[in-house]
Amino acid sequence: MRVELSSKKLQSEFVKKVTELSGQKLNLCYQCGKCSAGCPMSDAMDILPNQVMRLVQLGLEEDIGGSKAVWLCASCLTCTARCPKGIDLARVMEALRLLTLRKNKNYVEPSKLPRETIAALPQIALVSGFRKLTS
Ligand code: SF4
Ligand code: SF4
Repeated sequence: MRVELSSKKLQSEFVKKVTELSGQKLNLCYQCGKCSAGCPMSDAMDILPNQVMRLVQLGLEEDIGGSKAVWLCASCLTCTARCPKGIDLARVMEALRLLTLRKNKNYVEPSKLPRETIAALPQIALVSGFRKLTS
């Protein structure tokens, strides 16, 4: 019983943090799927944007943390423009990335990038990638 209470508390803290950081009313999402249908990155994502929303609503932080979807999000705002409930999903994605980075976890480790990759990529791509993917 104590474990259940403690996990419920953690779950609500996660939902609260995402709500605060994104400024969105997460419970408004009713899984229409319009965000995923228009997302230009959905083919590369392991879970779709609407599924990210559902996992957030359920407070399943670990399932989201193990996915690459939030890191592949290009912040293009297509989902935001299409959502019939006015949810800015791009901001939810950003909030989820921030929660990981605030734990001082990098999604990409700059020191582990192969020299050839660094040489091949334009500097602006590296800078913008590191800003998004490192803490
Ligand atoms: S902002 Fe992210 S999740 Fe939304 S449509 Fe663009 S790439 Fe997809
Ligand atoms: S478009 Fe909006 S309401 Fe529909 S699934 Fe996406 S976030 Fe939820």
